[in-house]
Amino acid sequence: MRAAVTSAPGRIAVETVADPDPGPGDAVLDVGAVGLCGTDLHMYLGERHDTGFPLRQGHELGGTVAALPRGYAGSLRLGQTVTVDPAIPCGRCRPCRRGRWPACRSFRALGVALPGGLADQVVVPVGQLHDADGLSAVEAALVEPFSIAAMALARAELVGDERVLVAGGGPIGLAVTVAAVAAGHAVLVCDPLPARRTLASELGADAVCAPAELADTVAEWTGGAGTDVAVEASGTRSALDAALAAVGAGGRLVVVGVAAHDLVVPVPRVLFDGVTIVGARAGLFPQALSVVAAHRGEVARFASVVYPLEDVAAAFTHAIERPDAVVKVMVAR
Ligand SMILES: [Zn+2]
Ligand SMILES: [Zn+2]
Repeated sequence: MRAAVTSAPGRIAVETVADPDPGPGDAVLDVGAVGLCGTDLHMYLGERHDTGFPLRQGHELGGTVAALPRGYAGSLRLGQTVTVDPAIPCGRCRPCRRGRWPACRSFRALGVALPGGLADQVVVPVGQLHDADGLSAVEAALVEPFSIAAMALARAELVGDERVLVAGGGPIGLAVTVAAVAAGHAVLVCDPLPARRTLASELGADAVCAPAELADTVAEWTGGAGTDVAVEASGTRSALDAALAAVGAGGRLVVVGVAAHDLVVPVPRVLFDGVTIVGARAGLFPQALSVVAAHRGEVARFASVVYPLEDVAAAFTHAIERPDAVVKVMVAR
């Protein structure tokens, strides 16, 4: 079969590789579509120290079931459209045993440690598949970023008419916006790019602003109370600091953007303001599937451009150069 192989920093090409060899408990998918995200770009550029070369990338994928494990007794059928939860917790470490699998000490992820979806077919442990009947392959692939958004909102523990600030209007921030608006919450999206602010408004954001206007906008938008929830989805230090400052009493800061810098928290913010700080890692797929199925018009806006697998190198170049209007670059068969 064909698969995209990342052989060195900035080098990816379609090669002929061995056909899938599923083990016990593995399904095989015919890949329909794959989304590229920031993680993919860091891996492709050789910027991650936990992945080397060669790599078989692609962890946001939708496809159809080509083979199921011997003796499989679940509800999935051959030919069915599915989406894939790419993050496989070990199930044995201390966090896993206590139900805190997003903190698994030895996650393995499809398209990172395991061969990914930028290929004709991919092997997936059957438990990682979720029924996406009725969705297109591109929509099924987009369930993955929406699953990250669903985890962020679950960690936010939103109730009633609480307000959500989203710092960073990239794919995850916009997915958080769609999901939070769908759940009836007012959302303020902060992003430096005008095109992203416009799209955020079109996706239902109640208000948008540039980073320099954030403090004033939050004060006005919340009547001085501060936001109930801030979701940091940009991975930048300035946005994280600003998001923490924007959270009001009893509020929550949910960190989704990947970063290595420090977050300095004044003790009174935790002790007297009751601000809670949590991270959101890995995805919640059933919740994401409901949002995607109910908001297909909004979800369609995320797939900015679709390349065929043979043009995977051009797809990565496009994703890195990312003109302002691009939310997500997709690769489809
Ligand atoms: Zn991703
Ligand atoms: Zn574990």
